[in-house]
Amino acid sequence: MRLLIAEDDAALGPRLRDRLAREGYAVDLAVDGIDAGHLGATEPYDAVILDLGLPRRNGLELLREWRAAGNQVPVLILTARDGWSERVEGLRAGADDYLGKPFHTEELLARVHALLRRAAPAAATELRVGPWRLDETRQCLVSDDARPGGAPTREQPLTATEFRLLRYMMRHPGEILSKTRLAEHLYDYDSDRDSNVIEVYVRRLRQILGDERIETRRGQGYLFVADR
Ligand code: CA
Repeated sequence: MRLLIAEDDAALGPRLRDRLAREGYAVDLAVDGIDAGHLGATEPYDAVILDLGLPRRNGLELLREWRAAGNQVPVLILTARDGWSERVEGLRAGADDYLGKPFHTEELLARVHALLRRAAPAAATELRVGPWRLDETRQCLVSDDARPGGAPTREQPLTATEFRLLRYMMRHPGEILSKTRLAEHLYDYDSDRDSNVIEVYVRRLRQILGDERIETRRGQGYLFVADR
């Protein structure tokens, strides 16, 4: 999952970027409205955190422009604590949620998670595949068979990239996912996006989940097969 943070505060922006990156998101940070507008219009983000008070072009203007162009990316706006009229304007312009400054980072994380869950076709709060549950907080797979006499709890560690890839696939089951699309959602703007590397990670996920979970569609990409 890939996020855009548009925030000009020199301390807050990098702090949020680093924190969200630790949560397993690919994150781009834009520090002015021109840059944010360009990235938001051209890169396929899964959600945007948008400070309304940006230099060069304000956030509200960008939001209106994206929505007018049919861009439905989930947007959480950051506003001044007492900026109720700003919030109303932001929601009217198509924001999905808002947070007044200052805020606790944990609240922002919870709201971003909720936005992504609502936006994904797989709206389940828990991502499950076969005996596994994807633990998004700890970035691993856990088998917790609660039936009497069920198998004991096991844990399958995942590398950061395996986790990102699996989470994205689990949120888009039954869709053909091209290597380019996967790379775009897994890596930030500055990363070297070698889509061939995706093959390596898919192979590792198949070893964990079984080959039948991730189908190859020749010339098109991959398809994640959810539980029936
Ligand atoms: Ca600002």
